[in-house]
Amino acid sequence: MEIKEIFRDKGLRLTLQRRAILEALQGQGFKTALELFQEVNRLHPGINFSTLYRNLELFVQTGLICRLKGPEGALYGLRRISKHHHHAVCKMCGAAYPLSRCPLEDMGEELQRLGFTVTEHCFEVYGICENCRDHMEEVSRC
Ligand SMILES: [Zn+2]
Ligand SMILES: [Zn+2]
Repeated sequence: MEIKEIFRDKGLRLTLQRRAILEALQGQGFKTALELFQEVNRLHPGINFSTLYRNLELFVQTGLICRLKGPEGALYGLRRISKHHHHAVCKMCGAAYPLSRCPLEDMGEELQRLGFTVTEHCFEVYGICENCRDHMEEVSRC
């Protein structure tokens, strides 16, 4: 679905600022709110941080983007898989790759035995992506 249609579908107004935020979110890399703020401000000066932050949270709630726990705080990026998923996060470049399986699926029985009701969970895998690893190897060969 196109961005315009998604917004219409959710009853949201597609403002210039919202469009600028979504443009800054293009690409594989996940970014912090501050990085996105700097990028949006460079192209469209005048947006304030709390507006940007509110819009990011709104996009998370409507399922347009993913928020994940990065090595140094929350990271935001476009949502690429509509079903529930987790991410492998590169500690060097911030790229986040969606993982289709959820580890919670294996814990259902155990949680049931405990009589535990799950309200939320988070699971991220950290490491170094293929691009960064190749680059490191190039550097070390010199
Ligand atoms: Zn990387
Ligand atoms: Zn999960």
